[in-house]
Amino acid sequence: MLEKKSFYINGKWVSPSKSNDFKVINPSNEEVFAVISLGNAEDTNSAVESAKKAFVKWKETSKEERIGLLEKLLKIYKKRFDEMAKAMSMEMGAPIDYATSVHTSSGQSHLEDFILRLKNFKFEEYFDAKSNNYINREPIGVCGLITPWNWPINQIALKVIPAFATGCTMILKPSEIAPISAMLFAEMIDEAGFPDGVFNLVNGDGEGVGTQISSHPDIDMISFTGSTRAGKLITKNAADTIKRVCLELGGKGGNIVFADSYPNAVRDGIKNVMSNSGQSCDAPTRMLVEKTIYERAIKEAADEANKIKVDIASKKGDHIGPVVSKVQYDKIINLINSGIDEGATLAAGGPDLPNGLNKGYFIKPTIFTNVTNDMGIAKKEIFGPVLSIIPFETEEEAIKITNDTEYGLGNYLQTEDKEKAKRVSKKLRSGIVYINGNAADSGTPFGGYRQSGNGREGGVWGLEEYLEVKTVTGWK
Ligand code: NAD
Repeated sequence: MLEKKSFYINGKWVSPSKSNDFKVINPSNEEVFAVISLGNAEDTNSAVESAKKAFVKWKETSKEERIGLLEKLLKIYKKRFDEMAKAMSMEMGAPIDYATSVHTSSGQSHLEDFILRLKNFKFEEYFDAKSNNYINREPIGVCGLITPWNWPINQIALKVIPAFATGCTMILKPSEIAPISAMLFAEMIDEAGFPDGVFNLVNGDGEGVGTQISSHPDIDMISFTGSTRAGKLITKNAADTIKRVCLELGGKGGNIVFADSYPNAVRDGIKNVMSNSGQSCDAPTRMLVEKTIYERAIKEAADEANKIKVDIASKKGDHIGPVVSKVQYDKIINLINSGIDEGATLAAGGPDLPNGLNKGYFIKPTIFTNVTNDMGIAKKEIFGPVLSIIPFETEEEAIKITNDTEYGLGNYLQTEDKEKAKRVSKKLRSGIVYINGNAADSGTPFGGYRQSGNGREGGVWGLEEYLEVKTVTGWK
């Protein structure tokens, strides 16, 4: 059993002011594998105070000093890469090969990309060649960073690295459900030698440390990734202190499969939804299929879903793991049952446990057909391995259905007609559109429209979130 009860405050691992144990569960076997502590206001205040004090000097550091420290952190990250993969595999159930090649790699590539962007980033410049006005970009101050469990190090890296890079100081509150990867990252930051107080970590839940952070008068900005529910509460709590609130929230992505799509488009769409056990904010969980290929698409989708293996996270190979917790498991099973009750047709999977798995939070890859976009399963973010297939007849109808959601994070479209792809991508109301399975490059902005949030993380956009912009006249 791992004992990880300390918090990282002012450059040291310190005991919580009051003991409040919280068990971390391995979702593959439902067993407790670590104990952390949930902090309280005293711990939060102490972390904020140390970040506030550290900001005075850290904001004056040169870009070169910060690049040097980030490069050191990158080296340490590479050295402890396998430990990071193992921590995430245990805390949130990602199969070990996936945790290594996708989750842990994402942390490394964000570090590499932010170092590159920082090298080329201009913090100050003339407004234009003839102007006597000068534009300064300055760190916003003390940042509260709140992260979820579904892509632990990916989300942490997208916040902590740009905060460091721009000269901000911070308090990280990772998800209490998957806190071990964050604590390992804090150890790496400590080893890299960042000045005391620049980075602080306090574990806690949303009601406690999360709320203390969002309402704290000495925190200048919140960067939050998580549910739209919590995003709304954070925004309200932050209102009294007018802090900047950057939100990366939920999604209900559409995947428009036109009749002229490449041959494997349906099968790739299934793999995309089911990877990470369906626990991705930009998963394409509504597949819209042109009516002329609807019957074939259903057969392919069900066949592909039935081929996906479900197994424990420590096993090597290509499979999906459990969902993260009993709470998520119950929520997903309830939504599957509600889809059956609403009259959708189950084409694969369902609420029963996958064969041979009687322990752990495992769910069969599940496909619903005959879904209409007003059903609960098409509207709610299920956050599990569940896909709804909806038929359409025209391009306009496909766009209308895709946009008919309160979210707007990632949408997908499949067609061999390049002009149609561009035309449709412009009409989709989301922060990202993936055409024919093309991946987004490192450093491209990631974020949502509407209730999927208001921030953009990654690359230059990710740096800009942490900066204030100052105009100074009469500079010459
Ligand atoms: P969650 O909102 O329950 O929790 C996320 C974090 O917020 C946790 O650290 C939690 O302790 C904290 N929290 C909860 N309530 C809070 C409150 N009232 N005040 C302050 N903090 C609070 O979400 P989750 O279940 O951990 O993560 C899944 C959600 O995250 C999904 O909705 C998913 O779509 C979203 N997500 C979005 C993105 C994105 O980039 N848009 C990326 C990953 C996950």
